[in-house]
Amino acid sequence: MSSDDYFFLSPEDTDPARIKKEREKAKKLKKTQWWQNQLNQGVCHYCEKSFSAQQLTMDHVVPLARGGTSSKGNIVPCCRECNQKKKLGIPAEDLLKNIQDE
Ligand SMILES: [Zn+2]
Repeated sequence: MSSDDYFFLSPEDTDPARIKKEREKAKKLKKTQWWQNQLNQGVCHYCEKSFSAQQLTMDHVVPLARGGTSSKGNIVPCCRECNQKKKLGIPAEDLLKNIQDE
């Protein structure tokens, strides 16, 4: 019995209890001065455009469901547009599009 699926998303990564814990951690981080400073810098991590603190949201570079954690190294300010794109999984397609356009 073998399945590549086991390696694609390990059961540990998708453990709901772990994700819940990481979400709580992210919530706490949102209240820290460190996060306020990130927002006050007003720059989206992905498109590097300037935004007001209210326009930026917290984003996990490596999604929790893929084994990411709520550590400072994995959390970045992100504008709504990039956040939306990321959810839809467009970045990889954008990459392909850019290659085709050139
Ligand atoms: Zn952006």
